[in-house]
Amino acid sequence: MTHSSSPIPNYPESYWLHAERASYPSLLENLEVDVAVVGGGIAGITSAYLLAKEGKSVVLLEADQVLGGTTGHTTAKISAQHGLIYEELIQHIGEEDAKLYYESNRDALHFIKEAIETEGIACDFTHEDAYIYSVSEKKAHAIKKRMGGL
Ligand SMILES: Cc1cc2nc3c(=O)[nH]c(=O)nc-3n(C[C@H](O)[C@H](O)[C@H](O)COP(=O)(O)OP(=O)(O)OC[C@H]3O[C@@H](n4cnc5c(N)ncnc54)[C@H](O)[C@@H]3O)c2cc1C
Repeated sequence: MTHSSSPIPNYPESYWLHAERASYPSLLENLEVDVAVVGGGIAGITSAYLLAKEGKSVVLLEADQVLGGTTGHTTAKISAQHGLIYEELIQHIGEEDAKLYYESNRDALHFIKEAIETEGIACDFTHEDAYIYSVSEKKAHAIKKRMGGL
C-alpha cells in the first residue's frame, strides 16, 4: 500500500516475500529418514544442508512456507557488527563470552560465503563496508569510544 504521491510504502514489506520461492506439496505419507528437521528458515535449512552433506537422509518439515518466517523478513545483511552490542555483552556476560558471540557471527558469515561459492548460488553476494552512526551526541560519544577515538 502506498501514498498516492509517494512510492514509499506506508508499512515496510519484506522484499524477499515477493521474490520467487520454491513451494512444495504437503506431506501425505510416512517417511523413513535419519533426521527430521522442523522449520524451513535459515536455521532449519542450514541444519538440513549440513546433515545431508554428512550423508544423512533428511526431511525438512515446514508448516507454512519455506523462508516465510523471521528469515524472510530480514535485510539479508550478514554482519558481525550489530550496533554497539559488544559493549552491552561485555557488561552483561563478560569479555570472553562476548568474544564467543563475535566469533560465532564471524564464522557464520564465512560459512554462508563458502556455501554460496560451493553451491554456485546466484544471489548477488557482495562484500560491503559496515557503518555505525548515531544522531544523538551520547551515542556518538559511545561510538567514538568504541573505535578508540576517545
Ligand atoms: C530485520 C531483521 C534483521 C536481522 N538481522 C540479523 C543479522 O544481521 N544477523 C543475524 O544473525 N540475525 C539477524 N536477524 C535475526 C535472524 O534473521 C533470525 O535469527 C533468523 O532468521 C531465525 O531463523 P530461524 O530459522 O530460526 O527462524 P524462522 O526463519 O522464523 O523459521 C522458522 C520456521 O519454522 C516454521 N515452523 C514453526 N513451527 C513449526 C512446526 N511446528 N512445524 C513446522 N514448521 C514450523 C515456521 O513457519 C518458520 O518458517 C534479523 C532479523 C530481522 C527480522
